[in-house]
Amino acid sequence: MSSTFSDLPIIPEIQSALKALEYLTPTPIQAGAIPPLLEGKDLLGCAQTGTGKTAAFAIPILQQIHKLGQYATPYQPLGLILAPTRELVVQISENISAIGRFTKVRHTTIFGGVGQRPQVAALVKGIHIIVATPGRLLDLIHQDYCDLSKLRFFVLDEADRMLDMGFMPDVQRIVKQLPRNRQSVFLSATMPSEIQKITTTLLHNPVSVMVTPPSRTADRVKQSVMFVDRGNKRRVLDRLLSDKTRTRVLVFMRTKHGADRLFKSLIDAGESAEGIHGGRSQNARQRVLNGFRDGKIRVLIATDIAARGIDIDEISHVINFDVPVEAEAYVHRIGRTARAGASGESITLCSGDELKYLREIEKVIKMPIPVDQDHPHHSPNDQDPELNAPSVFRRTKKTRGEARGLARSETSSEPRAAGASTKRRRSISGKVKKIKPREGSNPPKSFGKRSSPKTKRR
Ligand code: AMP
Repeated sequence: MSSTFSDLPIIPEIQSALKALEYLTPTPIQAGAIPPLLEGKDLLGCAQTGTGKTAAFAIPILQQIHKLGQYATPYQPLGLILAPTRELVVQISENISAIGRFTKVRHTTIFGGVGQRPQVAALVKGIHIIVATPGRLLDLIHQDYCDLSKLRFFVLDEADRMLDMGFMPDVQRIVKQLPRNRQSVFLSATMPSEIQKITTTLLHNPVSVMVTPPSRTADRVKQSVMFVDRGNKRRVLDRLLSDKTRTRVLVFMRTKHGADRLFKSLIDAGESAEGIHGGRSQNARQRVLNGFRDGKIRVLIATDIAARGIDIDEISHVINFDVPVEAEAYVHRIGRTARAGASGESITLCSGDELKYLREIEKVIKMPIPVDQDHPHHSPNDQDPELNAPSVFRRTKKTRGEARGLARSETSSEPRAAGASTKRRRSISGKVKKIKPREGSNPPKSFGKRSSPKTKRR
């Protein structure tokens, strides 16, 4: 494994950009992926946002396209990166801009929710790389604004999320348009069997790079859970936010309506807050993200989909106002803090009806989440997991000896908490459930009817 970027066969144009970005040492995914990708091999990477995966594929693609020395051809990109959300597309694009700033490689972004005219203009002018969400790209392909027949490099990023959000049919339609002779990179935070099946059709003799399984990202985050009645959650949040050393706080809510209500009432209360969810326009989402990144907004209320891939390094705290129903969403949520090697803190507000979800989370992260009782709204008895429901974990508190004994004996005899496992889309053990697209996701499009070429569509 190389210890610095200068040990890797990276061209000076990119080395200079990496220096400017202060990237000195390759992250594990970069050290594992860059050399085989530069040799033209396919790659199967198990890594999630925060591991440096973007640069792991961006550096080799930029270098290879730069070395080809070709002018960008109208409509015909050489590289395509597919990502599940607009935010992720924008982030990947920003990364490519930064890493490729001294190369002659041109790229553009393509995603829905905004007018297609600037995207079409970029394609007409000619670009080397497209970073896109699947739906809008297919729209443009069907309008004959994009032709993938000359493609040399293909990246499918966050494949498991694509599957979750119902984008796989679109992805497969796009893949059908790609020439066989291409280099492919397939990245996914988890590798359930459905994803593994897809990789066999997409990749040719891939090199595999597996970095930190998702549950391990929890390691760097100081986690705690507060047991509170649902009706007291807002009071607890206000208390947490009154501590101004919490400088950049990301608060997660399950629904966009909840997120909407909360950020508006925080603004009314004089807080520097905003909300990001699938119901807001792309421009509003981008403006909010920029404000949060620049420190103009202190508290960002987000739903899971909208927050996916938020690449902001200095989030001091993640607060789970709702306990996520999917255990892996918890890992993703708390992974928004403690990025790029930093540490962070997450606080989860758990009401009695959410205990079952907490249990699942603890199983996935393979550790109990420490309970913070040091607040006036602690709901000690009916919501204490040790007294109430079977736990695979036990706290070390001696005064709960009897309760622990009870929990231990119950573990073997009681059924699993209702809904805890059945509602999860995907477990790390690899089970995948077919689901409807969720909030913020576009349903798979129907291709029965093709639009007439070159018509303006939104
Ligand atoms: P990613 O997983 O691609 O979203 O990257 C996560 C964060 O790590 C981003 O803010 C990157 O700018 C940063 N990053 C990526 N590679 C490196 C590196 N080798 N050294 C320092 N920071 C990095």
